[in-house]
Amino acid sequence: MVTVAVLALQGAFLEHEKVLTKLGVDHFEIRNSEDLKRPFDALIIPGGESTVMGKLLRELNLLEDLKKRIAEGLPAFGTCAGMIVLAKEVEGGVPALPAMDIKVLRNAYGRQLGSFYANEDFADLGKVPMTFIRAPCIESVSGNAEVLAVVDGRIVAARDGKLLAVAFHPEITDSTAIHEYFLRTVAGLNY
Ligand code: GLN
Repeated sequence: MVTVAVLALQGAFLEHEKVLTKLGVDHFEIRNSEDLKRPFDALIIPGGESTVMGKLLRELNLLEDLKKRIAEGLPAFGTCAGMIVLAKEVEGGVPALPAMDIKVLRNAYGRQLGSFYANEDFADLGKVPMTFIRAPCIESVSGNAEVLAVVDGRIVAARDGKLLAVAFHPEITDSTAIHEYFLRTVAGLNY
């Protein structure tokens, strides 16, 4: 059985859990270092506020452990603030779990007028619904990282090995396509 851990320090973690429940995937929340003792096959880092999440990851002593596991091949999926947390380079912020060869720009669409909806192509999935909330964008990818989606000329999704980052919130739409893509295609898990 496949088990997914959802980082639940702040932000939209509950919505990811609902998608996993819908897909019938076993999951639990990571709130402190005790939770890291449980076995899991993949990690989801939700949207929220990347600066707060980075601070809590450090204060709760989760940072080094997660960094190590990701470096050793733990599949991880970051959405919005979670994408910022996974990026090696952050404009307008500080890298938290530097893991993906992507350079991100925080609040790429402005702070006020930051929310919009799009239905655009994603990798080989065709059109998928994308909800952006004070979203970052990816300015560039390097190394093995590849671009998976572009909206209005901006990169909004990328993959780097077993790591996936999207600038939008797939967990608040009815579609489970992006979560399935992460679990099956990126993480290589059979659930
Ligand atoms: N603007 C937030 C940040 O920089 C991200 C917003 C979100 O996750 N919806 O962390």
